[in-house]
Amino acid sequence: MPEYARIIVDISQKNVDRTFTYRIPDELRKNVSEGVRVNVPFGGSNRHLTGYVIEITDDPAFDPAKIKSISSVEPGAIAVEEKMIKLAAWMRKNYGGTMNQALKTVLPVKQKVRHLARKTVRLTVDRQAAAEALSIFEHKKYRARARLLGALMIEKEIPYEVVTGKLNVTASTINDLTKLGFIEVDIRTELRNPIYDTGKSGSDVKLNYEQKKVVEAILEDYHKSTGVPHLIHGVTGSGKTEVYIELIAAAAAEGKASIMLIPEIALTYQTVMRFYNRFKDRVSFLNSRMSAGERYDQYLRAREKQIDVIIGPRSALFTPFPDLGFIIIDEEHESTYRSENVPKYDARGVAKELARLSDATLVLGSATPSVESYYQAKKAKYRLHEMPNRVGNRPMANVTVVDMREELKTGNRSVLSGVLREAIEKRLQKKEQTMLFINRRGIAGFVSCRACGYVLKCPHCDVSLSIHKGDRLVCHYCGYETKMVRQCPVCGSYAIKGFKAGTQMMEDIISRDFPKAKVLRMDSDTTKNKDGHEKILSAFANQQADILVGTQMIVKGHDFPNVTLVGALAADMSLNAPDYRGAERTFQLLTQAAGRAGRGDVPGEVVIQTYSPEHYSIAMAAAQDFNSFYEKEITYRKSLGYPPVAHMANVLITSKNNARNSMCALELKKFMAGFENDNLAVIGPSDLPIARINDIYRKGIYLKSPDRNALVTVKDAAEEYVKQSREFLGVNVQFELD
Ligand code: ADP
Ligand code: ZN
Ligand code: ZN
Repeated sequence: MPEYARIIVDISQKNVDRTFTYRIPDELRKNVSEGVRVNVPFGGSNRHLTGYVIEITDDPAFDPAKIKSISSVEPGAIAVEEKMIKLAAWMRKNYGGTMNQALKTVLPVKQKVRHLARKTVRLTVDRQAAAEALSIFEHKKYRARARLLGALMIEKEIPYEVVTGKLNVTASTINDLTKLGFIEVDIRTELRNPIYDTGKSGSDVKLNYEQKKVVEAILEDYHKSTGVPHLIHGVTGSGKTEVYIELIAAAAAEGKASIMLIPEIALTYQTVMRFYNRFKDRVSFLNSRMSAGERYDQYLRAREKQIDVIIGPRSALFTPFPDLGFIIIDEEHESTYRSENVPKYDARGVAKELARLSDATLVLGSATPSVESYYQAKKAKYRLHEMPNRVGNRPMANVTVVDMREELKTGNRSVLSGVLREAIEKRLQKKEQTMLFINRRGIAGFVSCRACGYVLKCPHCDVSLSIHKGDRLVCHYCGYETKMVRQCPVCGSYAIKGFKAGTQMMEDIISRDFPKAKVLRMDSDTTKNKDGHEKILSAFANQQADILVGTQMIVKGHDFPNVTLVGALAADMSLNAPDYRGAERTFQLLTQAAGRAGRGDVPGEVVIQTYSPEHYSIAMAAAQDFNSFYEKEITYRKSLGYPPVAHMANVLITSKNNARNSMCALELKKFMAGFENDNLAVIGPSDLPIARINDIYRKGIYLKSPDRNALVTVKDAAEEYVKQSREFLGVNVQFELD
């Protein structure tokens, strides 16, 4: 009979990041098991802390007389399966942080939360009456009324904030429709399934040959439990989503549930309906706007086998399904799969481990797979499936690359090339829509020559130098510094300067050049409010504007059938980000953008403006040739020892005290340099691209090695070193692998 529990206490501090042993009192024995949250007396003062039981044992490993007892079990706490504890331990080891932080991540909802009151707008008339009213509103051009009624005919009940947010319908319109007797505003406290049954039965899609082949191949491995992850490389519109649906259904037929991750911005109404039509009540969704109570409800439904699939952002990984079939990650190349909070995990890595622990099958999919995942596929670590054709052989977009250096030569100093200007003009005449985006990554100000396109780079790292305070050039990788130049070292032109372009400026220019066009802007400024970006996107989808100007966020995962032109205004921007992934990001972004143009039957047009048309990431994106891009890129990574060929670790050192932070960074570098050899390089310390945030100073050290385990060894040793050293008090050290 086990008598003791090993417990992780709820303090996210390194010095208590170990287990403590407590006695399990007889009266609690029934309730204490692995994963349960308990209250314990802690330390000399016996203050009350909560903690997680991570092991039950009959070995006190300690003088039993000195062991304290668990005081109580947290009411309403949910037990974590052993699997989740193992997953947390794995995350701690691979991504740093404390065990407690890892546990908090895999257990996003720890307690039952009271359901908050929900305000919804509900249709009160039948479909026919609604349809009749809808056609009258449309005829009279009551656009907002029509929009709301139309939406309510698909989804009978819609959260109030979605109506005023995403649907862009004002309170006075809601009032009008209420008075006319079409709708009602409801306030309720219980939780219902968020989606209204459309009455549509199942999916009416029959998989084509290409899709069937992929489904069969994956199911074959799945049934054999080979544990091999799959990578689907399929162009936009090749029917990947239907493949996922089929896989999920196959697992569900055997009583197994699946997790599907998609970037939150891609979780559109259309996607929701596709899954709902197939899985009805047995699908659930997570998003970041849900309250803790709503999330907890979805977890309960999962635990109780009420659903076959959950769809959501990276945190959906931690849905506690007792029996897992597939973990699917769509748009697997997206950077949103990396967590910014400690533990700074990569959802793809965690998904792989979770699949291993649960005997589930991992499926990654993308039109532009990450170099990392494709590399695994090429090395036969993943099984690769290619879907090179669009469903129904719909055409790919026509892509034109415009060399901005030539524009300058012909005297065009505008940010718009002649080709793009003409293309926009044509769209305005035909009443078709245009999306224009600039890429804000790397806006930190790389320096380029407008005459020849030359970009100043670090002589040691092959990443672009950033301009600081107008006269210094800095490498954010190694700290190399030099003076700003006035003249291009290649062609001698004086037209060399820091590259800056904002969306605000773009909007002004477009409005000035096309005074008749209605222009919308979407960037981090205009989307600060809750639902801000949904409002703008739905206004654009409702054709309330001709041109949408924005950052790269506008090209991600949206389907606007009336958009026939996409313009990339400064394709080079991400290319020159101070980061080895610059080319990869550029290629992905431009290829994804090309996938946005012309979703209907009209083939779309894409115009890419650039100062470096010869760069392979731009040339290959224009040709929509992933394979050639990959070959070039992997050769480059090999030659410089970058991931995935080699591995890297970032060490982030932060403190309020600048002097102490710098000192500790040097100290840590010295310590880690002791591990240096032919296979392991320690670079830095240097200021981070943003050297100070909220008065917290930030330094970085980089480790490179072909052997990932070597990096983990240094990380573990360095973490121990920091823990032991008094000098690091008030200094925070974080590790990030790859
Ligand atoms: P992807 O996820 O690769 O971008 P989707 O699965 O969204 O592709 O498919 C693109 C479009 O083609 C969708 O509108 C989808 O409903 C439709 N589609 C997919 N597969 C088929 C099929 N076998 N038959 C008919 N239409 C299909
Ligand atoms: Zn030049
Ligand atoms: Zn450098």
